[in-house]
Amino acid sequence: MNYSDLYFVNSIDGLDEVNGVKYMTLFKHQPIDYTHNIEENQKHFLPVTIVDSIKVNRVYEGQYVFYDTKNKEFLNGNNDVRARKEVIYNNILRHSLYSSNFEENSYTPEKVYDSKSVSTYHVYVGHGNLSIIVLNNSEIWVIDCSLYDFMDSYKNYTNNFEECIRYIKDKHKIGDIKISKLLFTHMHYDHFSGALYLIQNKYFAEGEIWLNLYFSWSSQNYNLLLTKLKSMGNKIKIINPIKSNGNNILEIVYPDKIIKKRGQKINTGEETVPGNKINNASVLYKLNFNKKSLLFPGDLETKGWEKINHSAVSNSSYYCISHHGSFNGHLLNSNTNTTLAQWYTGGTAILMGRHNAYPGIFDNRVLADFTGRIYLNDQNGINSNPKFIELDWMTGIVRYH
Ligand SMILES: [Zn+2]
Repeated sequence: MNYSDLYFVNSIDGLDEVNGVKYMTLFKHQPIDYTHNIEENQKHFLPVTIVDSIKVNRVYEGQYVFYDTKNKEFLNGNNDVRARKEVIYNNILRHSLYSSNFEENSYTPEKVYDSKSVSTYHVYVGHGNLSIIVLNNSEIWVIDCSLYDFMDSYKNYTNNFEECIRYIKDKHKIGDIKISKLLFTHMHYDHFSGALYLIQNKYFAEGEIWLNLYFSWSSQNYNLLLTKLKSMGNKIKIINPIKSNGNNILEIVYPDKIIKKRGQKINTGEETVPGNKINNASVLYKLNFNKKSLLFPGDLETKGWEKINHSAVSNSSYYCISHHGSFNGHLLNSNTNTTLAQWYTGGTAILMGRHNAYPGIFDNRVLADFTGRIYLNDQNGINSNPKFIELDWMTGIVRYH
């Protein structure tokens, strides 16, 4: 038994439960100096391990573990001093941001207006999501921002992002790109790994961040992000991404109440993560402009979809496919075997992610269900990989770049 290597459990399963395949992603704990050179720190961590069909019964996402190679099982590592430090540091950061920068329930947007011109850009970042929304040729929002593919040796996709930014500046005649809203679906690395890059390069220097601050998630990469956010002082405002804080432009379909923890609900009225999986804490954002709309479900899986009123989203014009095209993100109800395509019959679908990043993505059933109306930002050699997808909301035209 090797107690020197400590791992953070990033995810368990989540891709293709129907076929009974078990996978985990783990981040190996490494010494990090949170007080200096945060961006530098991000570059040299953290290897990931995928373990197939091992004993994971007592393991949960967000836990620190040791791996016993002999018996092929995981042992609780939460009491290790390194794990305790990360958990405490995470609590301090969240509490501190909560006290100084947080809008809980009473958020009123500075301006809510319709936009006649909307284009969205979905950047190819390997396994991960990054969408840029350009409103009225001036305002810019970003939903999820991964730039490094941790499933492929942290391959760097900043070139694709920069190319997209150049295109946006040119097309929309925007001088400096200033992101005013940074919206996160959930706290997985493949949805926020590029946030430090955006901040460091002044694309996001001030504005709103929509993020679930309540949830304890003490991965080192998340602690790096929170450290950076804390250093921005009052330039940022953190908004609680719940339904009541949304509006008719930036709508939050799910969750109603903030999801505070994993585990069972014990008569506290607090929401817990459906299925105990952080993916099911993904916020379902819906953007509504000029009678068109686009859905961003992050990595919602079946147990999360079961909490959502499907009719509230079936009329959307566009849909960014959940969970990188896994079947688990596509199956809405495991009892009725309803899939998303059965109620989302009209609109265009965009699939972000890298084909075969995990076994189970892209799932052929997902691709088949959207035949003729699906656009993939990994063409898997068919059309050479595009750097980004451009969607013009008003014409509905999708272009690869
Ligand atoms: Zn993801």
